[in-house]
Amino acid sequence: MPGSFGKGRTMTLLSPHISNSQNEDVGRIAKIAIVGRGFSGIMTAIALLRHVEGPFHLVLFDPRPKIDIGEALRQSSTSVLTSRVRDLSVDRADPADFRRWLQEEAEDDHNRAIDTEEIDDLFVPGEIFRTYVYDRFSKALTKRIDVVIQFLPDRVTSIEQGEGGAFSVLTDAGQNARFDAVFLCTGYGLREGSGTSAVPSGGAHRAIVIGAGIQAVDKALTLLDGGEASQVTLISESGFLPQSHASKAQGSLLAAQAIPRTLRGAFRFLRQAAMSADSQGLGWQGIMNGFRLQARELWHDLTPDERRRFKRHVQAVYDSHRNRLPPEHYQRLHRAIDEGTLAVKRGRVDRIAINGVLVSTSADFEVMAADVVIDCRLRSAGTESALIRAIVEAGLATSDELGIGIIVDECGQTKDAPKSRRGLFAIGPLGLGSVPDVDLVPQIVEQSCLAAASVNAWLADQAREPLPAKGFSPQRQT
Ligand SMILES: Cc1cc2nc3c(=O)[nH]c(=O)nc-3n(C[C@H](O)[C@H](O)[C@H](O)COP(=O)(O)OP(=O)(O)OC[C@H]3O[C@@H](n4cnc5c(N)ncnc54)[C@H](O)[C@@H]3O)c2cc1C
Repeated sequence: MPGSFGKGRTMTLLSPHISNSQNEDVGRIAKIAIVGRGFSGIMTAIALLRHVEGPFHLVLFDPRPKIDIGEALRQSSTSVLTSRVRDLSVDRADPADFRRWLQEEAEDDHNRAIDTEEIDDLFVPGEIFRTYVYDRFSKALTKRIDVVIQFLPDRVTSIEQGEGGAFSVLTDAGQNARFDAVFLCTGYGLREGSGTSAVPSGGAHRAIVIGAGIQAVDKALTLLDGGEASQVTLISESGFLPQSHASKAQGSLLAAQAIPRTLRGAFRFLRQAAMSADSQGLGWQGIMNGFRLQARELWHDLTPDERRRFKRHVQAVYDSHRNRLPPEHYQRLHRAIDEGTLAVKRGRVDRIAINGVLVSTSADFEVMAADVVIDCRLRSAGTESALIRAIVEAGLATSDELGIGIIVDECGQTKDAPKSRRGLFAIGPLGLGSVPDVDLVPQIVEQSCLAAASVNAWLADQAREPLPAKGFSPQRQT
């Protein structure tokens, strides 16, 4: 096989066509597309390889030439992830899978010792997690000689309903027809002309990092620690910085309690519960974990006006408590603030130039000079992507009311669109407007497995039918 999927290596695209099949008669088997090869895309591929029982032809599209884990996690390759080992298994049925993999790796590498007592609590570098994900992908692929996999280095520009109702995937290189199912795993879209200026050689004196989420903080600390900047300013509209994880993993402290079903009531309840847990020395993080377990139901019960108010007034502070920094990073961040090497400015960046930014604050406009500017703002998963706009315009999906992404159910299946049809899924951040929290690893694992199981059930139904249904024609090979 031309691609290398082994442990400890980054898989590189060597051929646009990697075939894992001994039978190339792919015209007669189900054909599935995955758009985007970040964590959501690769996780979806793993889920399909594990859950779809019959043979199929899988095509993964992504213009990035290197096969790694995508835009989001790639940015943190040298730093630790913000979830603990216990929350990063890619096997939904086996939450200990990542821990066991780490232990096996440590045993293979005699120089490394991992304290097995504490392994669940650890935060590991993104690089290690990527290697684990590719190892699991590689293993899932090895078991499926009946699956054909193709990696196409193309940017997808649109999805259309083609002849007989099957999907056509349009790319900048042409058209790929007759897909029975398409998975949109495009995360926050393609980062083109991101507004990031290069770090001058010899190190930059002043840097501006736009944003104050985990990615922005990660970037700021990397610049300071690597000597690439001596002074960093984070500019954020909300001004909220990520909070800290507890020193030990926390469970869920709220599971049995009912949360009021209004925005105001729910967040008053959350604040009081967190303060009370903190005063008892239990840590507010367990309360937040419990709250998140009920967040999906709560979100569905909120009125459209309450959801809009959440986005405008609550989301920034909610996210700062949801996406937490490992305690060591949190301390490092606040040490840099105390030492004066890192500052946080509240304002909106209206323009980025090579020598600084134009910021508007509540009072005025300000020009801030810098040697390097790095834009770490999260783009909207839906509205800023030409592909997603084209799919919505074609009537195959509907934007959620907040313009975050597209409307999906728990499985990622798109719904409520004028031309909705079975087989179009959005996995990960694209569904954030209808399924809260679906941008994190455990939720992406769950969603992709549910989606793959549903595709499997559907393929099995179709295979039992005497004549193939319109738009879907998997004739299973025996
Ligand atoms: C610094 C950092 C640390 C994080 N740490 C954690 C953590 O510890 N735990 C956790 O749970 N989550 C963490 N997250 C969040 C989580 O990892 C991301 O939400 C998740 O990785 C999103 O993956 P994705 O594949 O959906 O998107 P992405 O990684 O953005 O990948 C999307 C892919 O789609 C491709 N694409 C986009 N548009 C097109 C198109 N039109 N045609 C073809 N291809 C296209 C892009 O090239 C890209 O490769 C972290 C995020 C960051 C930034």
